[in-house]
Amino acid sequence: MASSSRRKFLQTAALGSAAALTGTRLLAHEKKVPVIIKDNPIVVSTWGFGKEANAGAWEILSKGGRALDAVEAGVKIPEADPKNQTIGYGGLPDRDGHVTLDACIMDENYNCGSVMCLENIVHAISVARMVMEKTPHIVLAGDGALQFALANGFKAQNLLTPESEKAWKEWLKTANYHPEINIENRLYDKSKDPMPGGPDNHDTIGMMAIDVNGNLSGACTTSGMAFKMHGRVGDSPIIGAGLYVDNEIGAATSTGVGEEVIRIVGSHLVVELMRLGRAPEDACREAVERIIQRSPEKAKEIQVGFIAINKNGEYGGYSLQPGFEYAVQSKSVTGVFPAKSHYK
Ligand code: ASP
Repeated sequence: MASSSRRKFLQTAALGSAAALTGTRLLAHEKKVPVIIKDNPIVVSTWGFGKEANAGAWEILSKGGRALDAVEAGVKIPEADPKNQTIGYGGLPDRDGHVTLDACIMDENYNCGSVMCLENIVHAISVARMVMEKTPHIVLAGDGALQFALANGFKAQNLLTPESEKAWKEWLKTANYHPEINIENRLYDKSKDPMPGGPDNHDTIGMMAIDVNGNLSGACTTSGMAFKMHGRVGDSPIIGAGLYVDNEIGAATSTGVGEEVIRIVGSHLVVELMRLGRAPEDACREAVERIIQRSPEKAKEIQVGFIAINKNGEYGGYSLQPGFEYAVQSKSVTGVFPAKSHYK
């Protein structure tokens, strides 16, 4: 072996053994600059209720499972929880009393699937995954999405719980559409009935995970803004708005008033800012600032939050208003953390 190639071999071997010693891992595809994932697998999701959802994802990630399987399993937990009135079964309905679900999922190869305005199926995320895996399309909406789900073995059920019907009937007394800012910094506590502090009229679960192979996936699912117009679709099922995953760079997801996120294609913007070198929290902050620049007066009255994770497993979040929080689970971190916000 020539001395220069021998030197290169020794350097590479030393890097590999250092990684083995510290429990980190070099990514095979990162030839020029080895990226060391510090704490994978890892899962990050929006809001306090993300903690329970992360635990579901962790069951899969900790056994070496795929990030895509983990995020699907994770968000199915709040989808099935009738006490969570902003996602899946028990979600608050639109102004006509229909619970309509929006969801999307994206894997490490830019594969993605989405359902919009889906009724009567609890696990919208699994229908979105099936759209991704079994059709030539990316989005199915409304009755077409429902027919597709039924044809593929999903069971129809009424998603409107008595609690959510009661909240809707209460809302009908004034029929004033005004998204509340969810300012309570709180952990979702299942023992309280139904949501602590009264029903929130919006809050989505967006979840992103990195598996042991260093691959990223994300999922996002919601019943959308409570008392919205029938047929309204928010940011959550729109790839690039509510969720975006780029396996080379990172992933981002959003919550809050979806119309403002769609305008700036928020999650894609956050990922592109990370591509330019921003840390996850900084990328989320810049996306939030873009919303403020467009409409400073409106921004004072609404909530939008982003969370992001980069390929190194670094994560962060940022929101317009205080009260937004995100949940993290990895080998070394389990918890719910407040995001920094523009307004204090
Ligand atoms: N982004 C969701 C929507 O606009 C709601 C939320 O996350 O609060 O439908």
